[in-house]
Amino acid sequence: MAAFGTVFMPQMIQARFSDDCWSDTQLVPSDKIELHAGAHVLHYSSTCFEGLKAFRHEDGSVYIFRMDANIARMKQSSKLLNLPDFEAGMLEQMIKGIVKEYADETPAPPGSMYIRPTHIGTEAAIGKAAAPTMSSLLYVLLSPVGDYFAGGSTALRVLLEENGMRCAPHMGMVKSGGNYASALGPILDARGQYQADQILFCPGGDVQETGAANFILIDGDEIITKALDSTFLHGVTRNSILTIAKDLGMTVSERNFTVTELLERAAKPTTEAALSGTAAVLTPVGTFIHNDKEIKIGSGEPGPKTARLRQALNDIQWGKSEDKHGWLTKI
Ligand code: PMP
Repeated sequence: MAAFGTVFMPQMIQARFSDDCWSDTQLVPSDKIELHAGAHVLHYSSTCFEGLKAFRHEDGSVYIFRMDANIARMKQSSKLLNLPDFEAGMLEQMIKGIVKEYADETPAPPGSMYIRPTHIGTEAAIGKAAAPTMSSLLYVLLSPVGDYFAGGSTALRVLLEENGMRCAPHMGMVKSGGNYASALGPILDARGQYQADQILFCPGGDVQETGAANFILIDGDEIITKALDSTFLHGVTRNSILTIAKDLGMTVSERNFTVTELLERAAKPTTEAALSGTAAVLTPVGTFIHNDKEIKIGSGEPGPKTARLRQALNDIQWGKSEDKHGWLTKI
């Protein structure tokens, strides 16, 4: 199967902002965009994006998962990057429209249609290093995908990084390309040096997130994960998993915690750790690498609570259990 995110539907939907207003939306080929070489995004990284999924249910119908939360985050990212604002309803219509156009191409579970809204500053103005773009392009791409980490069946190796940080501390909650560019060097080093699958960024000991997913620790019936602040991405999957955990009677502790506490708790035989994200779903972490030492989390194998939470999330997404929080939008 093709690598995650390398196959695209031939058309995308777009809207352009200029002269203080948004154009009508338009279906256009997805294999190229017209951009001036001096476009703001290419020089000053005025870009943000989203990642959400549409799922096929057994009766063939297609549902988008947590579209409203992703649109709200996209509006927040655009605002924090001084990109033009847009009505949530406009992006909602764009997402629904393009997903409907390719509803028949939505893979059945465990696959899905990955939806990638993207917003870029298009004004040709290389003098605007410290000024916002006055024009922009908002578009929504689709990519049919399989399982990112193959069913969560293998436990990941994760390097604990206490020195570097993923991105500037006031920008972590923005889903912007620059954050991913700044995290890439450390991630590649961790892969090369330690064969780590991911880095868990813990600047000054503060346990934050990995390069593309949030981190949760499960100790007994308690889930511990960092409290929301500007330093990391407010994952929609994180929020969904915490909500499901409460439904299942678990205790949810959203609070800051340190690498020292993490390692103390990891030493208990029943402790589990996992990464949450739209692509990762909920993927178990089996091993930490810390100060050149390998440390098992609990048994070091995928644990039952992680599997149960993942299944409960998939059951809602796949239409196998009741959508009691109203997370699905039918196409
Ligand atoms: N943190 C980062 C840095 C991410 O890239 C992602 C993936 N979007 C997440 C967390 C998880 O966010 P979500 O659950 O909304 O996909």
